[in-house]
Amino acid sequence: LAEKLQNALGKLKGKGKLSEKDVKNAMREVKLALLEADVNYKVVKDFVKKVKERAVGHEVMDSLTPGQQVIKIVNDELCNLMGKTQSKIEFADSPPTIIMMCGLQGAGKTTTTGKLASLLKKKGKKPLLVACDIYRPAAIKQLEVVGGKVDVPVFSMGDKQNPVNIAKAAVEHGKKNGNDVIIIDTAGRLHIDEELMEELQDIKDEVKPNEILLVLDAMTGQDAVKVAESFENKLGINGVILTKLDGDARGGSALSIRAVTDKPIKFVGMGEKLDELEPFHPDRMASRILGMGDVLSLIEKAQENFDTKKALELEQKLRKQEFTFEDFLDQLQQMKKMGPLSQILEMVPGVNSKQLKKLNVDDKELVHIEAIIQSMTKEERLNPSIIDGSRRKRIAKGSGTSIQQVNRLLKQFNETKKMLKKLGKMEKTMKKRGKFN
Ligand code: GDP
Ligand code: MG
Repeated sequence: LAEKLQNALGKLKGKGKLSEKDVKNAMREVKLALLEADVNYKVVKDFVKKVKERAVGHEVMDSLTPGQQVIKIVNDELCNLMGKTQSKIEFADSPPTIIMMCGLQGAGKTTTTGKLASLLKKKGKKPLLVACDIYRPAAIKQLEVVGGKVDVPVFSMGDKQNPVNIAKAAVEHGKKNGNDVIIIDTAGRLHIDEELMEELQDIKDEVKPNEILLVLDAMTGQDAVKVAESFENKLGINGVILTKLDGDARGGSALSIRAVTDKPIKFVGMGEKLDELEPFHPDRMASRILGMGDVLSLIEKAQENFDTKKALELEQKLRKQEFTFEDFLDQLQQMKKMGPLSQILEMVPGVNSKQLKKLNVDDKELVHIEAIIQSMTKEERLNPSIIDGSRRKRIAKGSGTSIQQVNRLLKQFNETKKMLKKLGKMEKTMKKRGKFN
């Protein structure tokens, strides 16, 4: 999926402005990419519609580059789709917190029960695992092995008792032994059937779990979405744990599950080992799907701290060598909010990073420089050539610096302008020779 989307979005990069047609074309490809990733059709349809609405028009026009803006919108909507924030386990006000794990056979319930216990134990909880799968051969033994590995006790009553009674007895046992979290590992079937649902419902009615977590195998794609839908409808769930994400390159199920069930994905399984369970982060998942983490954080940084219009204006000025002390001061103030000027300008399309290196100013000097510029009159800032000896003296006094410092800044400024001029010329000749893109 990542590759497909990047291809689709890559086509937008480097375009000056994004028209409705551009967005439409790109979104057609995004749509295909999502469908190929096994995302539910209706989810794709809604998603594409939302992104289109947001992408065409105002928001795109104001961005650094239209292509980057679309990427950000696609990312935002992916996050929205999967739930904005990370969901946690809801602990009971008075312990124990009862967590019921359910899902189809082979989804990863028993493994995940162990993983979750290990995670909670690290957070200072005292979990108890409960073996309620009495049907699958060696299921009880499997949970006991898992419990042993993470050093968490397992409650079992063999396979002759019915699961409701086991669950009930386990809660009593846990209360007596000071276990504040009780995790019930239930049986699964190969397919959803009435018998399974009834049993789960009976356990639910008996122990009134705080959390019913549905364990789903990410590798089953669309089937996982269907399973989620019926568990939600028949039993009611609080959230989902998506396992085997390490083996699913497509990520389509993560996208669909939240949209279809409206229940959060709380954790993801990233491997067979018992420490390979992670909280689900929609933003990370979206970035993973888009494969553009770095690009996205840059865009975010730029939008938070920097007026994008100013960046474009500045680029124009740099090119026309109209750069004044006013702009310099503006820059200094922006710089305080984020990284150095060079870093900001690197995000502006068409600015060469090599040219920028030479513009860098020592951080410690910044305070003085800002004071010096602020002591200049507007006229002086726009036309520094009028700054003669007496003006220099006045500026130094007003800014609490020395005449030498003022001189140095003026000299630097002139050199910068000269350099820009040279670079501008160079760029022109190179362009003529076809060496610049
Ligand atoms: P259950 O029938 O639902 O209890 O499923 P199990 O816990 O027995 O797991 C079935 C298989 O899936 C086992 O071989 C597990 O090792 C494997 N498994 C579970 N979670 C993950 C995961 O996150 N990643 C990978 N790669 N394998 C997993
Ligand atoms: Mg099991």
